[in-house]
Amino acid sequence: MQLDAIILGAGPAGLSIAHELQRLGSKVKVLETSDRAGGSIRTIRDGEWIVETGPNTLQTEGTADLEILKGYGLKNEMQFAHSESAKRFILSHGKLHTLTAHPASLLKSDLLSFTEKLRLGSEIFRSRKNPSNESIQDFMTRRFGKAAADRLMDPVVSGIYAGDPSELSMASCFPSIHGLEKSHRSVLLGLMQRPKADRRIVGFKNGMQQLANEMARPLLEHGALEKNCAIAEIKKEGGTWTVSWVDQTQAPHTATAPRFIITAPHWHWARLPLPHNIKQSLEPWHQSKVPSVTVVARGYKRSDVPHPLDGFGYLVPHNENRGVLGCLFPSSVFSDRTPKDHVLLCNFIGGSRHPDLAAQSDEQIRISVNRELSETLDIKATPVKEWIQRWPQAIPQYDGQQSVREKLLEQLESEHSGLHFLGAFRHGVALMSVIRRGHTLAQCFSR
Ligand SMILES: Cc1cc2nc3c(=O)[nH]c(=O)nc-3n(C[C@H](O)[C@H](O)[C@H](O)COP(=O)(O)OP(=O)(O)OC[C@H]3O[C@@H](n4cnc5c(N)ncnc54)[C@H](O)[C@@H]3O)c2cc1C
Repeated sequence: MQLDAIILGAGPAGLSIAHELQRLGSKVKVLETSDRAGGSIRTIRDGEWIVETGPNTLQTEGTADLEILKGYGLKNEMQFAHSESAKRFILSHGKLHTLTAHPASLLKSDLLSFTEKLRLGSEIFRSRKNPSNESIQDFMTRRFGKAAADRLMDPVVSGIYAGDPSELSMASCFPSIHGLEKSHRSVLLGLMQRPKADRRIVGFKNGMQQLANEMARPLLEHGALEKNCAIAEIKKEGGTWTVSWVDQTQAPHTATAPRFIITAPHWHWARLPLPHNIKQSLEPWHQSKVPSVTVVARGYKRSDVPHPLDGFGYLVPHNENRGVLGCLFPSSVFSDRTPKDHVLLCNFIGGSRHPDLAAQSDEQIRISVNRELSETLDIKATPVKEWIQRWPQAIPQYDGQQSVREKLLEQLESEHSGLHFLGAFRHGVALMSVIRRGHTLAQCFSR
């Protein structure tokens, strides 16, 4: 089978590049080892409940991102977050503190003391420094003070990476904020001066799986997406990649193409039958940590939840010593996610600082979540529904070695024509960013 591109993995990265390549006239094949398309996207439909146990939302920036989503036929299927969910909470000293995107909300809140707020605001007068490979914790403490690092940034890092800010690299995890010190001397000054981005929090009427299904649909229609396949051999001869696999009936197949795109996550690379020299070059990626996270989604009767749930959800700083990283309020963000007079909560447990908690038994996890929801939201009732999803490897961690590992991929791509690596393991973990990069790369190939 002679193709234009062979793509490993039908997560958002693989689907986005394949969808766009096919739309532009290329012949592609996506090979997926599991029995479904969507990767980390996982929506459970249970009666009237629509429950996300992977990404709950994605964040678009500007109209170009919305156009990409519309291109999947989802124009009338998108849901935008209710304005009330612009409010977010951070737990501190056992109490929820309200924050919005408006800086005045931080000034009004008692999340930081008066002196700590002064320290944060004095960032505007701080001189520029350029320590190499600084951690998020060190960068935030240096620029904004320890209280802001511990109580503001730490929970955000938990929310995005389920990670430890003292291990993760500021430049790799938050390149645009990191770059503001260089470009404007002060991050606050830079934030004030940069044009306001038109960001929207987006979901889909039938959940995120609807996005994956619509990205996959034209590929399936053209026989360009194969699930349940086992990759047997990957070879490069001259400018051509040859991939052999067996399908679920054990029938063997072979395809050749000038482009070979790996979107399977890096923790699967050691088992890929890649040419020896490529496999060897990828070894540093085996050390890259990927913490486990367990998601516990729960449905309650509205009357059993005293808290108004008038926001997106809450995040928990590490020094609160709680069993959960945070809890989202999905039924407050989008309509029609629950039966009438019910609410949905989504708790995240584990991460790089508490892998032991993610690995607990369902019963132990239930006890932790009961305690947490009772203490923070005053919920004493038993849920009417519960769904538990375990992610043994959840989110890639961009630590101090990330830039070195990324350079390795660039080197491999320049040495082996047609080879590309695309996915959350590099250049950003946010779902929309992964999709946008796949879309853009396909357009670059087709030029
Ligand atoms: C619990 C959780 C919550 C999240 N919440 C959010 C959120 O709210 N907002 C947000 O923006 N992002 C969120 N993310 C991140 C986002 O989901 C990921 O960044 C995104 O799914 C990454 O897409 P990907 O295609 O790179 O990888 P994946 O989604 O991991 O897909 C990779 C695919 O490759 C397949 N594969 C593996 N090995 C092979 C092989 N050898 N050959 C072929 N195929 C293979 C896998 O089966 C899988 O289908 C969340 C992630 C998790 C886990």
